[in-house]
Amino acid sequence: MMYDVKGNLRQVLANLPQDVRLVAISKYHPNEYIEAAYEEGQRIFGENHEQELRQKHESLPKDIRWHFIGHLQTNKVKFIAPYVTMIEAVDSLKLLQEIEKQAAKNNRVIDVLLELHIAEEETKYGLTDQALYELLDGGEWREMTHVRICGLMMMASYVDDERQIRSEFRHAKSLFDDVKSRYFSDADYFCERSWGMSHDYLIAVEEGSTMVRIGTIIFGPRVY
Ligand SMILES: *Cc1c(COP(=O)(O)O)cnc(C)c1O
Repeated sequence: MMYDVKGNLRQVLANLPQDVRLVAISKYHPNEYIEAAYEEGQRIFGENHEQELRQKHESLPKDIRWHFIGHLQTNKVKFIAPYVTMIEAVDSLKLLQEIEKQAAKNNRVIDVLLELHIAEEETKYGLTDQALYELLDGGEWREMTHVRICGLMMMASYVDDERQIRSEFRHAKSLFDDVKSRYFSDADYFCERSWGMSHDYLIAVEEGSTMVRIGTIIFGPRVY
């Protein structure tokens, strides 16, 4: 029996302010779940494995806007560059350079977000505050005509403590404001704050998210 994808999606959308976009995270879920959400009008979906994304892109409607949300190895960029709408988790200059190269080959401009490392959890991924400013001060990105840095992305710690989650979102928002004013004040497209998942998206929205990435409460638990 299929999870009530349509009902769950409607519920989530009802909780979102008009100006917050939903990225429906469909990783590990079958095409029929994505089609159900699509029938409800959802067009932005997120995946974190290149091969799974490729199969879904090939077999599902072409007006779906795919976001790559996970850690992306540089050698996989070429596979998604022809069609991906946004790469959300860019956390190195090397990756940014590869996206620029592959986007140019495909005659495209690919939107990206810079991923912050704020959560306390030990993870290899994401830019510390210092690394973020180093990347931006380096200035190489200014020469890139096939990538567009559209904002910041982050994951809060996976904890019950609402105050901690909130303070991590606030930190991300203050970084966004500072980066916006120092590097992107003339760039209208630098406007995205991608934070909030199933368990914390209501807090994220209160703390300035413009884009929530939600899987479990729409599609049900993932079977890995
Ligand atoms: C899987 C994933 C999500 C969605 O998580 P849920 O808890 O299922 O809503 C959001 N962001 C990233 C980066 C993910 O990998």
